[in-house]
Amino acid sequence: MIKVTIFNEFVHEKYDENVKKIYPNGMHVAIADFLRSDEISVRTVTLDDPECGLTQDVLEDTDVLIWWGHVAHDRVPDEVARRVQESVLKGMGFVVLHSGHHSKPFRYLMGTTCNVNWREDGDFCRLWICDPSHPIVAGLDRYIEVPHEEMYTEPFGIPEPDKLLMIGWYDSGEVFRSGCIYQRGHGKIFYFQPGHETYPTYYIPDVQTVIRNAVKWAAPTYRTPDLPCPWVPRITPKEG
Ligand code: ZN
Repeated sequence: MIKVTIFNEFVHEKYDENVKKIYPNGMHVAIADFLRSDEISVRTVTLDDPECGLTQDVLEDTDVLIWWGHVAHDRVPDEVARRVQESVLKGMGFVVLHSGHHSKPFRYLMGTTCNVNWREDGDFCRLWICDPSHPIVAGLDRYIEVPHEEMYTEPFGIPEPDKLLMIGWYDSGEVFRSGCIYQRGHGKIFYFQPGHETYPTYYIPDVQTVIRNAVKWAAPTYRTPDLPCPWVPRITPKEG
């Protein structure tokens, strides 16, 4: 059983009528609904929970953390973001969705601005798959399509991905590194662009397939209670 925790800031869904119509119970619930299975157990947490629901105990009991945030990144305390960063370094998987590119934990793990250029026009988006043999795109073929999505375009202020899995193309002509794979410490990280709150993106079966596959891929095969690369005392050769 893979233990997934979904963090959603859960702000737009409460105040924006358009978003409320699409995700009446919040995006975290919509994502949990398609992930929950015999293989995956899901817990959801939001900004409303003490410590964003991301206590040390919860993180230690989480194989893969999914993150959606947009307007309230600064309401996630630094201490919580550092705790997430350390959990990833120790081996927890981390799947970062859409505007989560600007979340504190993702930026801490990347070490760069993670800025993007964007336009909210509901452009058609085709996400081209660079490596159809990768487990995150198992069951898919050459591309997936999102009828309406917020346009994100380059330059994207991320470090060079370990592997670029998807290139997003918009019918307005822009392109974006929409599926990026990283390893930080022992933890696997996947950034996936689709999921603007005013479009029903998380109901698209191919998008669901990617997130489900990403959870299985990011689940740790190794975890350590300590941060990796501890100080190792000098080993002196035995005499005689
Ligand atoms: Zn957005």
